[in-house]
Amino acid sequence: MRMLVDLAHRLRSSQTWIGLGILAPLGLLAISGLMLLDLRADAWEKATQTSRNLLQVIERDIARNIEIIDLSLRGVADNLTAPGFAAASPALQQLILFDRAVLARDMGVILVVDETGRTVFDAKGIPARPLNNADRSYFRVHRDRPDVALFISEPVVSRLLGVPVIVLSRRINGPDGRFGGVVQASLKLTYFSRLFANIALGTKGAINLYLADGRRLMRHPAVDEEIGVSVASAPTFQRFVQEGAGTFVGTSVRGDENRHHAFTRIGDLPLILDVALAAEEIEAEWRAKALVIGSAVLSLCGLCAGLSLLFGRELRHRSRIEAELARLSLTDALTGLPNRRRFEEALAERERSGLPPDQPLSLLVIDADHFKAVNDRHGHVGDEVLKGLAHCLMASARRPGDLVCRVGGEEFVLLLAADLAAARRVADRIHAEIRRFGLPGAGIPAGSLTVSIGLASTSPGRDGPRAVMDLYRDADAALYAAKADGRNRTYIGRTSRESSAAGDRAPAWGAASGTGSA
Ligand code: GH3
Ligand code: MG
Ligand code: MG
Repeated sequence: MRMLVDLAHRLRSSQTWIGLGILAPLGLLAISGLMLLDLRADAWEKATQTSRNLLQVIERDIARNIEIIDLSLRGVADNLTAPGFAAASPALQQLILFDRAVLARDMGVILVVDETGRTVFDAKGIPARPLNNADRSYFRVHRDRPDVALFISEPVVSRLLGVPVIVLSRRINGPDGRFGGVVQASLKLTYFSRLFANIALGTKGAINLYLADGRRLMRHPAVDEEIGVSVASAPTFQRFVQEGAGTFVGTSVRGDENRHHAFTRIGDLPLILDVALAAEEIEAEWRAKALVIGSAVLSLCGLCAGLSLLFGRELRHRSRIEAELARLSLTDALTGLPNRRRFEEALAERERSGLPPDQPLSLLVIDADHFKAVNDRHGHVGDEVLKGLAHCLMASARRPGDLVCRVGGEEFVLLLAADLAAARRVADRIHAEIRRFGLPGAGIPAGSLTVSIGLASTSPGRDGPRAVMDLYRDADAALYAAKADGRNRTYIGRTSRESSAAGDRAPAWGAASGTGSA
């Protein structure tokens, strides 16, 4: 329950609302930030998916084509050692060797060369086109290393076709296992360029096909001078080799751009395929969105926070004005003393809360004598005299709890937390102060002004709550009596007199005090 009250109290405070007005936009900002980060992660996820799919399609196509060519190579190699092949006629040999060999589009030539590198069979026809390939890398590899099965060469310019190709080859073993030559098929690089041609990778994306030793077979978009170049020492390429397949974000193989790489080895072949997308392009769409959303949210939040601060300032300004108005409404404009309203509030407060049993309360009602005459004689100085009276009263009531109010034209009250005896001393002081007061410049010499005072006191523990309200009536009646008896004196209210100690030998309507003895 107490917590609920506390909460309700806090919700009423303008600080809370201003705090919320600033915190809420901050929360919104944080959520938007998280959402933007999520969108960014989505963009990367999409890029990964796209390049993975692309990688798979390309890998399958290349693997299948190379497998088909290899099947042809194996067919030729097998047939060369088929029983009766050597004895067959050249035409029949040609048929036996190349009947099953596929000549697909982009396939160059299929040749059989002997152990000296000279062409002996040519799928194109009889006789084989004369050529010696002994200097080619694949020839040397097969000659020197019987363990190498299918070999894929670096890009070379075909001697028969005059176009760039890669050569796929297999070793031919003689009957005794010795090197008997090579069967080779060439695949034009146009196969790869057609395969990659319609793939859109943005302006900075690339597809690269490498030999396992790091030499580049193909690049899309094509850059001729990069074909055949070795990138074996590039860290990015080394990662391709070590990891086999996967994705990562790193520099391009050339080391200049930040790229998202999806890479894989093609089947069991010594080929590595890499689909690279520019990080910048992956994020481009997101960046544009983030910029719009971010700046919109930021400005809205700034606006909210700004308005909250303005609102707070306005509230503070208002409450200052309200406090000032409240103060003014309880203040007398001429003397600056609390006014009648304040006095009534003070009385009502004391009545509400009840008087503490050990605390006496006294009230003095003070009225200037013949003030009308002062006003009539001295004209506008009346106001100055009233201010002077206010001063005298404040000088006489010195304790912090004392309350001096101007309750009417030339009528003042003084509320004291004091007993009758102390209040009488205060009344004496007032008479003495006023006796010293004068405005000689305005024709009012010191001693020419007097006041009459009506005094009433409550006795601790004796008077009930009724006493507070009676106090004013009682003091006012005493004032009336003081006036009637000649002015310039203090009379004590009857109730107070009756309840006070026996020392007061006063007449029915009060006792003279100070200078004004009756
Ligand atoms: P008494 O001794 O019986 O109190 O006589 P009095 O003339 O003081 O009393 P009365 O109530 O007849 O006159 C009060 C006068 O006080 C009326 C007016 O001229 C003057 N007065 C009241 N309020 C103000 C004020 O704010 N400024 C000025 N200059 N005079 C005021
Ligand atoms: Mg008067
Ligand atoms: Mg009066």
